[in-house]
Amino acid sequence: MPTPPLDLSPLQAQLRAFAQVRNWQPHHTPRNLLLALVGEVGELAEILQWRSDAELAALAQDNPAEWEHLGEELADVQIYLARLADVLGVDMAAAVADKLDKNARKYPEPQS
Ligand SMILES: [Mg+2]
Repeated sequence: MPTPPLDLSPLQAQLRAFAQVRNWQPHHTPRNLLLALVGEVGELAEILQWRSDAELAALAQDNPAEWEHLGEELADVQIYLARLADVLGVDMAAAVADKLDKNARKYPEPQS
């Protein structure tokens, strides 16, 4: 079996421990985590909306604080996605590898 392209298990273990010591598990239901994830996607969208592709390409140089903010929101999305998959018991490494394989079969490389 090829190396999974994504292994979230260390992050998920860290997030599980973070929630456990704060007794947040009762709040970490799939529904709540999904809504938190959607909220973070909205925060990410706020950064990108109304900015042109050229403005976004230059964001790191032109506005380092906003570039940092962009990274934070991407991290929030990743964190909630990882936590949601953990709570649901979905093996994301296997799911991503399987989906990439299906995509490769669905969209074969063009013949030259
Ligand atoms: Mg956020």
